[in-house]
Amino acid sequence: YRVKRAGGGHTMFQARQDQRSPLEIERLGALHRALERGELRVYFQPVVLAETRAVVAHEALLRWARPSGMVSPLDFIPLAESSGLIVPIGRWVLQEAVGALQTGRLQRASVNVSALEVKQPDFVAYLRGLLSESGITPRRLLLELTESSLLEPRFGKVIRELQSLGVRTALDDFGNGYSSLTALSNLPVQVVKIDRSFATRVGEDSAAGRKALEVVRGIVTLAGAYGLPTVAEGVETAGQAELLRAVGCTYLQGYLFGYPAPLD
Ligand code: C2E
Ligand code: MG
Ligand code: MG
Ligand code: MG
Repeated sequence: YRVKRAGGGHTMFQARQDQRSPLEIERLGALHRALERGELRVYFQPVVLAETRAVVAHEALLRWARPSGMVSPLDFIPLAESSGLIVPIGRWVLQEAVGALQTGRLQRASVNVSALEVKQPDFVAYLRGLLSESGITPRRLLLELTESSLLEPRFGKVIRELQSLGVRTALDDFGNGYSSLTALSNLPVQVVKIDRSFATRVGEDSAAGRKALEVVRGIVTLAGAYGLPTVAEGVETAGQAELLRAVGCTYLQGYLFGYPAPLD
């Protein structure tokens, strides 16, 4: 299928259908139709300042509205990534988030981007166009990066280009995966998001709970050495929120403060 490129023309994506099971081919077709028919939704979840609990931003989280119910991105992002469909889907999510910023419904938004999106030669040009059309201040947009493939040296260049556009970047799911430390020291990101698994364990009255809290304290110190603020994700209880604030997390995010929900 074809994806519009910034500055005209199209990029072709070929689904590797020959290596796919009939079920996967069917799901891929369904996902493609979902994008075309507007069955994808962007939900937004608040991010609060740890000290005051004031809402400072919202994270865009993709959903697929199927007749059977809302499908989590964990169930379809891998297929979207391996097929290349994540590129047009990701651009649609960016449009939705920028639209919400432009109309003033959101103050700041963060958007998850896959490595394949960032690898598109026109990724920065696409964003530049979207931002200048919207007229919003680029600083209101934060891009969340995860994959270890982002460690390729050329991504440092892309992140610096984003920086010069004024768009900020975050390292998502920090602490989950061997590559986190290398990524932190190699990539010029502006925010560190601490993997949800730590907040989940913090506050457990067990050795695991105490260890998780010490790991968070360590991550906060490390991020601080780079001058970077931290976001603790997956905060569900008041006890977790208080411990995470006490060890110095700058921002908190989780069901305690708000579920991902439609913009309305
Ligand atoms: P993520 O970027 O780490 O997003 C945080 C995930 O934690 C979200 O899962 C969110 O719903 C969930 N969460 C937030 N607070 C809590 C909590 O208090 N407790 C628990 N148990 N979970 C919480 P979700 O929405 O299922 O998204 C999963 C992942 O899918 C995201 O992880 C992100 O990596 C990816 N994703 C979501 N939307 C997009 C998108 O538009 N593009 C791309 N490329 N990836 C996306
Ligand atoms: Mg994220
Ligand atoms: Mg992510
Ligand atoms: Mg995360």
